[in-house]
Amino acid sequence: MTDSVLIIDALSAGTGHRTSSRDSIGCGPRTIAGVFELHNFSCNISRIEEVLTKKGAARGFEHLAISAMSMDLPVVKQATKMWRRTRPKGKVLLGGPIAAAPRTILSEIRPDVLILGEGEATLEHLIKSDFFETSIDLSEIPGIAFTHHSDVIITPKRPTISEEHLSDYFQPSTIRIMDYPGYQASRVYVEVLRGCSNFQRTKIRLPDGRSCTDCGSCDSIDPSTRLDCPEDIPPGCGFCSVPTTWGAPRSRSEAAIVREIQSLLDLEVHRIVLEAPGFLDYQRGPYPLTTPCSPSANIEAVSSLLSKIKSLPQMQDGTAHLSIENIKACLFTESVAETFSRFLPGNTPNIGMESGSESHARAIGKCSSPQDVLKAVRIAKKHNLDPFVYLIYGLPGEDFLTIKKSIEMVEELTDIGVERIILYGFRPLPGSAFADFEPPLHDSPMITKLKKAVRTANRDRKFTYLGRVIKSIAAEPSKTHSGYTMFYPLQEGPLITAQGGYSAGTLVNIEITEVLSDGLVRGEVVK
Ligand code: SF4
Repeated sequence: MTDSVLIIDALSAGTGHRTSSRDSIGCGPRTIAGVFELHNFSCNISRIEEVLTKKGAARGFEHLAISAMSMDLPVVKQATKMWRRTRPKGKVLLGGPIAAAPRTILSEIRPDVLILGEGEATLEHLIKSDFFETSIDLSEIPGIAFTHHSDVIITPKRPTISEEHLSDYFQPSTIRIMDYPGYQASRVYVEVLRGCSNFQRTKIRLPDGRSCTDCGSCDSIDPSTRLDCPEDIPPGCGFCSVPTTWGAPRSRSEAAIVREIQSLLDLEVHRIVLEAPGFLDYQRGPYPLTTPCSPSANIEAVSSLLSKIKSLPQMQDGTAHLSIENIKACLFTESVAETFSRFLPGNTPNIGMESGSESHARAIGKCSSPQDVLKAVRIAKKHNLDPFVYLIYGLPGEDFLTIKKSIEMVEELTDIGVERIILYGFRPLPGSAFADFEPPLHDSPMITKLKKAVRTANRDRKFTYLGRVIKSIAAEPSKTHSGYTMFYPLQEGPLITAQGGYSAGTLVNIEITEVLSDGLVRGEVVK
């Protein structure tokens, strides 16, 4: 074994404490670990909170590789400072969505190398160039940024990795899942495809004056024509950087996905989430697929994948659960819903609406309209699925009327029986079309009204759980009530607190007895 690397998972740690999705384990850090394992490096993964709070958590490692998002800048700064104090010679690598603003990150964090976009091939190139052993001429390595004296050097973009290489050569580590405390109770993400087919673009004038001149490329039937915009407007929904960073969709092979899931289940993972910006882009067409709503979903490929996964022993005996999240409403047809409910009864497809206003949704570059979303939610309910819908406030182009429409949509979605509405504030993401817009400083009265409507809708929905017995998995001790344990439903549903001490991964049945908030219920463990 040569060098040892500590891989830090800082994803959504923000200032140091993950408040939402505490039970999520993204696939990024395991993907990086897979490259190190491929080249016989010893490596471990640690949550950044662990490294910052547990003395000696970084002991014994020579190098650091951090995976983070833009919002995690504060905590990444803290961790690299701490590392540099004790290991000035060790190499510090930084990658993930945070790398979309290289100049800012290089001046703020000063890593040895910032990996831009997808990391596997670039990391392998660094390893093969003895980057960890000695100082090398980094300008020869595509897909990175670094500082040389006081200059920022950004090397040429690396071509994207082929579907074959993503499937048969680069394989995310599975053994490193055991580095995550409580992984048995966590939602473990397994990448199905990378990239997004939404190559429409925003029609909103950008702060630097760029705006659509209606050249027609975004509506072209020729997929390659949609790749470029003469006004240099990034593709996709204006608030999202996925098409810019990862390009058009590339699907992993069914065999690679099933192999990875089998290994994870054998390591006592109980909750698997199929990771994709848009799951229904899976094997939906030849590369580049840049038409988000046609052709329709590849039902045959989706069914084959789901049936293979569901035939795995742990899925068969009910000790493990499979779920799918992100789907585009415009692709969510009756036959898709029928397929989901056959293999994933009670699944919670996540559907992005973002704005309730038809014109605003179009202006921000959405490929599905609010009416498409309502239709998709109705279809999902008809097939006993429990859809989540996403809304964003503070988006460019938002006004009194667009928020009013969003509030009306909350009421309509509640009437249809939507399982949960997830509302979050607009954040300008580097690499997205809206990167230079400022989020609103204060909540307008209409935004306050929207937040209240969503909270009430989500809280009221929790009352449908009262009296139900839910198969649940223990996660961690309650931080607010001693003697209580926090549980997640093995299938879908709200966070649960129940009396008693249970170790992470313990499966129990819980009868729901009380609604505590729009995201939390109390229950009693039933034998
Ligand atoms: S490619 Fe650019 S200019 Fe052309 S229609 Fe799309 S956004 Fe407008």
